[in-house]
Amino acid sequence: MKMPKIPEDLSFYLNQRFVCDCGKEHYAPLRAVRVGSGVLDELPSIIRLMGYQSLYLISDPVTYQIAGERCVHILENAGIPHKITKLTHLGFDEATLGELTIQMPKDCDLVIAVGTGAINDVTRYFSFKLNRPFFTIATAAPMDGFASSIAAIQTNHLKTTYEAQTPTAIIGDTDILKNAPYPMIAAGLGDLLGKFTCLCDWKLSRVINGEHYCENIVEMVEVCVRKVLSSAEGAKDRNPETLGAIMEGLVLTGVAMSLYGNSRPASGCEHHMSHYWEMMFEQAGKRPAPHGIQVGVGTVLILKLVEALRTYEVDFAAARVFAQQYDQSSWEAEIREAYGPAAHGVIEMELSSGKNAVDSHLVRIDVMEQHWDEILAMLSALPSSNHVMSLLSSLEAPCLPNQIGIDAIMLKNTFLYCKEVRNRYTILQMIWDLGLLDHLSNKVIENLPDSFVEANSEPKIG
Ligand SMILES: [Zn+2]
Ligand SMILES: [Zn+2]
Repeated sequence: MKMPKIPEDLSFYLNQRFVCDCGKEHYAPLRAVRVGSGVLDELPSIIRLMGYQSLYLISDPVTYQIAGERCVHILENAGIPHKITKLTHLGFDEATLGELTIQMPKDCDLVIAVGTGAINDVTRYFSFKLNRPFFTIATAAPMDGFASSIAAIQTNHLKTTYEAQTPTAIIGDTDILKNAPYPMIAAGLGDLLGKFTCLCDWKLSRVINGEHYCENIVEMVEVCVRKVLSSAEGAKDRNPETLGAIMEGLVLTGVAMSLYGNSRPASGCEHHMSHYWEMMFEQAGKRPAPHGIQVGVGTVLILKLVEALRTYEVDFAAARVFAQQYDQSSWEAEIREAYGPAAHGVIEMELSSGKNAVDSHLVRIDVMEQHWDEILAMLSALPSSNHVMSLLSSLEAPCLPNQIGIDAIMLKNTFLYCKEVRNRYTILQMIWDLGLLDHLSNKVIENLPDSFVEANSEPKIG
């Protein structure tokens, strides 16, 4: 089938092979998504349609209360054989996988994750290893990892990413989701709002680097996030339609990643900020804020940086001088300072990718100069930082770095060095290319609300 130019409903993209004008073939293995009020009642009909006979449901004491008990009731009424386990060991490690194996009915042909986050990851991995398909029944929608095919599991006391599988079906009943705590709703919204900056990254890279780009996938994600943005005010009142749109948006961006074959449609500079913070918190033995909350704050910071750039008269000759001054060994010293024990991997990646190398940097400046009006138009299509901040604040969610434990020094390092976590062209790399990352990030930091500047008035920045 031909990949549609005008986005269709989410279900149109499921389990269907598309030929696309971008030259790629797209496929997302997810088979069914139900989002809306009372959709949990459709569970028996989906199961019958797909022909499953014996179910194994995985919950914990909290998600059992929220949705597990109702699932059991629905399945009992429908006469579908099932067993539900309430995980008592919450480490999501080898012991959890052992407990799941012991409890599993031998004849089970479908595993169901009742929950979000870690329960999903452990079920995704467990069912993959046992060669059974799995469903997700969401109890909250805090991030876009629903349709992901990798799982983070703790092994040997270390969180490691393993190959796993995407679910066969995802059910998001808004009667359940509306009871999720505000921070969870805000996290989902934050992860979704980050799509604006990440799609902008991709568009910029298409122009500046000629990176492969799929207009149809970008359109599909963009239409969806614009829809969420226009109704996001309803999140604070737990409006089921808004919560349904957030859930659907998070599933859809996961599907977009599946269709494209990597995370380009869903993760850019705002995610690089979050990855950097996660690393720093881990090194300090501290717990970082939830992923979607970090992405929300990252999105605000990137939007502020873009706003600073848009009012700045770019000097391309000065950018060329800056490019010529690049010195690999002093860059490595800065990376060691900013990344600590993680620096080695970052330096290795730069040695193989050469994204900061002088020759390609100069070529990019030439291209930017030729296309500057087009680039400015892309940047001005982004939502304003104030709009995003007011949405996150209306959910009592953090929207500024100090609210999630980022001090002034870490913030400055984030602006300057988080782009090094991946070889992916973003707004941050573009502003660095222009020789303006240091200057414009200082402007952003200076203009943060007083509470931030005062609480962090270390002399090292500015
Ligand atoms: Zn994310
Ligand atoms: Zn395409």
